[in-house]
Amino acid sequence: MTDCLFCKIISGDVPAKVVRDSERVLAFRDINPQAPTHVLVIPKDHHPTAAELAAADPALLAEVLGEAHRVAVDEGIDGTGYRIVFNTGAQAGQTVFHVHAHVLGGRGLNWPPG
Ligand code: IMP
Repeated sequence: MTDCLFCKIISGDVPAKVVRDSERVLAFRDINPQAPTHVLVIPKDHHPTAAELAAADPALLAEVLGEAHRVAVDEGIDGTGYRIVFNTGAQAGQTVFHVHAHVLGGRGLNWPPG
């Protein structure tokens, strides 16, 4: 999609600090990190939300989750624990409507989230 920020990161039109790049999934650092590790993991195909990706291509959603775990291993936070978050819809705080998994870790994370 031409007006999608994350599609522009995939195409290279918007720069990003890429940490993993596979055939169908890209992972890059969040521009406004909320934890020592804060990485966004996205499918290269455009799907607005996790729900829509789950319906359209569940195998690709599984790839996103697999890459999210590999990010945690690469960052050295898989042992202490980390959080994977899909904000889904505006009321949940989703601001970019290209599905993305937030991978957060490197500090204690409170529950429930705000
Ligand atoms: P959401 O609020 O769950 O949709 O998450 C969107 C995330 O994208 C936020 O955590 C933003 O900080 C992040 N973000 C926005 N623009 C950029 C960018 O250009 N590069 C990397 N992360 C971004």
